[in-house]
Amino acid sequence: MPTLEQVVARRIRVRGLVQGIGFRPAVHRLATSLNLRGWVCNDADGLSIHIEGADAEVDLFAGLLKSHAPPISCIEAITDEAATCSGFKEFEIREGPALGGSSLEAQVPADRALCADCRAETLDSANRRYRHPFASCIQCGPRYSIVSAMPYEREGTTMRRFRMCLACRMEYESPNDRRFRAEPIACSHCGPRLGFVDAAGPIVGDWPCIVAAAAALRSGRILALKGLGGYQLLVRADDDMAVMRLRERKRRPSKPFAVMVPSLAEAERLAAFSPMERQILQDPANPIVLVESRNAIAAVVAPGLRHIGLFLPTTPLHLLLLSQLDFPVVATSGNRSEEPIAIDDCGRDSLTTIADRFLDHDRPIARRVDDSVVRVIDDRVRVIRSARGFAPCNLPALQRWAAKAEHSIPPVLAVGGQQKVALALWTGSQAVLAQHLGDMDLPEARHALEQATDDLCNLYRCEPKIWAGDLHPEYYTTCWAESAHLPFIKIQHHHAHAVACMVEHDLLDRGVLGITFDGTGFGPDRTIWGGEILDASIGDFRRIASLDLFSLPGGEAAIHEPNRVALSLLGATFGDKDIPGWLLDRLHFTKQRASSLLRIIDRRIRSPLTSSVGRLFDGVAALLLMAHQVTYEGEAALLLEDATDPTVEAAYSIKPWIDEGGVRRGDWRPMIRCLTDDVENGVPVAVCAAKFHNALAHFAANIASISDHEDIVLGGACFQNAFLMLRTRMLLERLGKRVHAPSRIPANDGGLSVGQLAVAMAHWNQQQRNPTHVPRHPRPNC
Ligand SMILES: [Zn+2]
Ligand SMILES: [Zn+2]
Ligand SMILES: [Zn+2]
Repeated sequence: MPTLEQVVARRIRVRGLVQGIGFRPAVHRLATSLNLRGWVCNDADGLSIHIEGADAEVDLFAGLLKSHAPPISCIEAITDEAATCSGFKEFEIREGPALGGSSLEAQVPADRALCADCRAETLDSANRRYRHPFASCIQCGPRYSIVSAMPYEREGTTMRRFRMCLACRMEYESPNDRRFRAEPIACSHCGPRLGFVDAAGPIVGDWPCIVAAAAALRSGRILALKGLGGYQLLVRADDDMAVMRLRERKRRPSKPFAVMVPSLAEAERLAAFSPMERQILQDPANPIVLVESRNAIAAVVAPGLRHIGLFLPTTPLHLLLLSQLDFPVVATSGNRSEEPIAIDDCGRDSLTTIADRFLDHDRPIARRVDDSVVRVIDDRVRVIRSARGFAPCNLPALQRWAAKAEHSIPPVLAVGGQQKVALALWTGSQAVLAQHLGDMDLPEARHALEQATDDLCNLYRCEPKIWAGDLHPEYYTTCWAESAHLPFIKIQHHHAHAVACMVEHDLLDRGVLGITFDGTGFGPDRTIWGGEILDASIGDFRRIASLDLFSLPGGEAAIHEPNRVALSLLGATFGDKDIPGWLLDRLHFTKQRASSLLRIIDRRIRSPLTSSVGRLFDGVAALLLMAHQVTYEGEAALLLEDATDPTVEAAYSIKPWIDEGGVRRGDWRPMIRCLTDDVENGVPVAVCAAKFHNALAHFAANIASISDHEDIVLGGACFQNAFLMLRTRMLLERLGKRVHAPSRIPANDGGLSVGQLAVAMAHWNQQQRNPTHVPRHPRPNC
């Protein structure tokens, strides 16, 4: 033992992702191995450590702390100061102090799928957690879906209602146990319990419930299963009739379903995997991974598509259920059509019209966290839906930008657009993208958005002083944000897309060229934008190029019927009277029907103008694939991408010309003319589809070649298309540009709120500097 004179004490604070990931046990191990005393606890800032002992060992501890942190931790800052010795006899993990009024500095941990150790225990008949559906440890298990208040301690989670049994308590308190301070710790004696009711009545016991649920699936029934962040609907994936029944009841005629498989081996039987795809499939985030199908399951699971979404069991409950089946299962969100996913009894009731059986449990779900979806493009994981496992997602570049801003920026909430809404929040110290909530068309979804907003603000202990949203006057989020009666900054849709990518790639200190190819977004000129190339910075943008405008006959109807878009393109290319008859036949239009639609275009009746690449995709898909009706957003574009021959380098031509406002407009008419010639001459669809994708990439490169910007960001849902992204990137890199594509933040509207948040923060900062400052597009509070 050192003499009293040599004993020193220090207070160390660690900020970042440091809670709910085994950091306190790691600190405990390091401290005791160095014979140091004191304590560690989670608090509002992250982690607080009081360490005392011999001078040299305390120094060593401080030096080794970073390298002994759990691999998944993300340390933003460590501060260290001298403290007073208190004469501690040992090193302990303390309960965190109750939080005061300040906002949360600590990061909220994401959910993690079951780890290899817990998986092995669950399947080991000699282990005390054999067949326990809720096994978890310091490495894995529920986090975000069960935490109701930070700091992350059992009392702040929905596990607080389950009293640990003696055996669990001993593991929880043993520094050498892998469940040392694992907050969701449980076993069959003390943990949550399953419930299942079959025709004969309730079944007692976790394992009998699982066996009965498996039997229901085997017989083709639809099972509603209470998962980690919400209910899921399961049905056997090899049974066309069963899958069709689910489609009918869920009112989802053709949108692809994801499939859960028990193991990597089974996944490889169903689809071809690249090493990166294999890796993300097994990642603790446990997303649905879109991969190339081997056509080994029912075609009705993903009709007409080459890709299929696969994922591995998220929890021991999923694993145990799948271990009883010798077929893969469709596992889709537990909701009706576009309603929010069910998480409680009320939501469960809404599923009674869909599910035949329910596998429930009694652990409450703190908030809806849907399954995440990713795709690997260009050897990088691209998040398409950021939810379970990825949410909440911290935005460190935006935090750094705010720390350097002249004025301290008050809390800001960004509400996203109309589809794929996810909230983003600046708390005053943290910037986060919260989980995917969904589309805002139904009252139930709107109510869930309001709930999610309260929940997010409570969890981060912050009250937004400024709101940010989209410029579109009819988006629900815009109207709702306006009703909050706080300063509301409206951000142009594609500026937000570009800035979201700038946030992800830490480009907030410079101007970039933003290439945003998208479905629809409201333009300040009141046309529908969606094929925009912007000179962008965090606070401002200028439109430098765009697609030539075309009409959407019938407005909303044209989104569901791509052949209307095709007709509009043909009318503009050939002249209304000169569209070749065979093309009308191909689009399934009689002469009469075609002329009445062309008439409403000419008279501008319910025929908004657009420069949207997404809609151009729809029109071209209708011409090439005869995809005349779609039932989900992006369907035509997905089919077109799947039909493309990726080896083709030839391109149609989209010719830029300069309009009176100085914007370079991409004239797509020469492309439509060549494309119809190709179709008439029997050129394969796969070649035509590739030439179309290449035309867009060449148009982007053409504009980039006259821009001084070295950094180019890509944004908008069209860049979820692998072929378009790869080609665009390749051509831009040939020009010597640095190309940044969305990866962790969705390219689609799921990432919109990140851009809105950053732009609103910049506008606020500019306004403090110069109260008369009015950004060019759009004005705050316009
Ligand atoms: Zn585990
Ligand atoms: Zn127990
Ligand atoms: Zn968009």
